[in-house]
Amino acid sequence: MILDKAALDARDAADPLAFARARFRLPEGVIYLDGNSLGALPKATPARMAEAVEGEWGGDLITSWNKAGWMELPHRIGAQIAALIGASPEEVVAGDSTSVALFKLAAAAVRLRPRRSVILSERGNFPTDLYVLEGVADITGRRLQTVDADAIETALNDDVALLVLTHVDYRTGRILDMKRLTDRAHAAGALVLWDLSHSAGALELDLSAAGADFAVGCGYKYFNGGPGAPGYMMAARRHQEQIRQPVTGWIGHAAPFAFEDRYAPASGMGRFLTGTPAVLGLVALEAGLRTFDGVDMAMVRQKSKALGQLFIDLVEARLPEAFTLASPRDAAARGSQVSLRHPDAYAIVQALIEAGVVGDFRAPDIARFGLTPLYLGFADIGQAVDRLVRIMESGIWREARFAVRQAVT
Ligand SMILES: *Cc1c(COP(=O)(O)O)cnc(C)c1O
Repeated sequence: MILDKAALDARDAADPLAFARARFRLPEGVIYLDGNSLGALPKATPARMAEAVEGEWGGDLITSWNKAGWMELPHRIGAQIAALIGASPEEVVAGDSTSVALFKLAAAAVRLRPRRSVILSERGNFPTDLYVLEGVADITGRRLQTVDADAIETALNDDVALLVLTHVDYRTGRILDMKRLTDRAHAAGALVLWDLSHSAGALELDLSAAGADFAVGCGYKYFNGGPGAPGYMMAARRHQEQIRQPVTGWIGHAAPFAFEDRYAPASGMGRFLTGTPAVLGLVALEAGLRTFDGVDMAMVRQKSKALGQLFIDLVEARLPEAFTLASPRDAAARGSQVSLRHPDAYAIVQALIEAGVVGDFRAPDIARFGLTPLYLGFADIGQAVDRLVRIMESGIWREARFAVRQAVT
């Protein structure tokens, strides 16, 4: 059903999450459909950063490690993330990039299955996940096997030590069935590590109910932690005392300030830490997470599905021949994004950005639009599609300047 402007405004007026938009600073006139790649700036972040830099660092200097609780940040933030992913507070720590976090957890996990030789993942998984797993396989003497999503279950045999999957596909937004695949992996005797980079903060997650062993995720996408924000690591409590991660630094030691010569792992998730916490990045991540204060994830999910449905309906009604839908049509199988295929997707996205609609391009042919329910409304989607229609009908995207590839797409 195609809604006119007044109908879209009415949906925004009735939106129970509309209050959250005031928590963000968004440039005037821009419709930001890339919060799944870099979350928008929370209004509270600059002042919180200034306080951490000028007050805590500048004023209290080194005493802030104790006084401002800097050393506790990975655990404190981990507990806040745990609440958003359905884990226990003591099962999550924040820190490291997602890539490094994945390395530490995957290497630790395969050591729990010493007689199995395979790390299994999905073909077309996010590149860093595959590259890191290649490295883990290499140093642990295992083999990385990748299969298409529909072949994962049949590939789970008694030689698989660890299954590593990204819950929501970064290109298409397709959701994998976390509970089912975790159950199947466990039935085959394997452990499972989920990458939540495109799920956490957008979907309702319950890692405990799914029986997940391990998870990693990203701090700068839906968590709004800022460019290069630290990621996080989750290990189920039942594994925590057996598991040993390979980057054994002093902050993961049982007693860092005893300065002993021999490594002894901290109890619980503390052992996943390595070096001095990246305080400024963690402070910004914590400010990002506060944008979820009082927010019900069921409402976020409901709105995300509705925004996606509206976007698809409008594009298909107004540009019936222009694109192929790359995302699942069924909202229940789709994360918080809509991806459209077009041979000239790159140029179209560039022309859209110039017109104030920021999406992104994923090779080879995907125009990707992230839908962040905390700061997008229904009228925004209507306007974004209006501008897309104008670009497609005028053909302006064919101008040579839009074809010039930049480093970050
Ligand atoms: C964004 C993303 C990452 C990011 O990894 P970095 O180490 O932060 O660069 C990793 N995995 C997936 C699936 C992602 O979507």
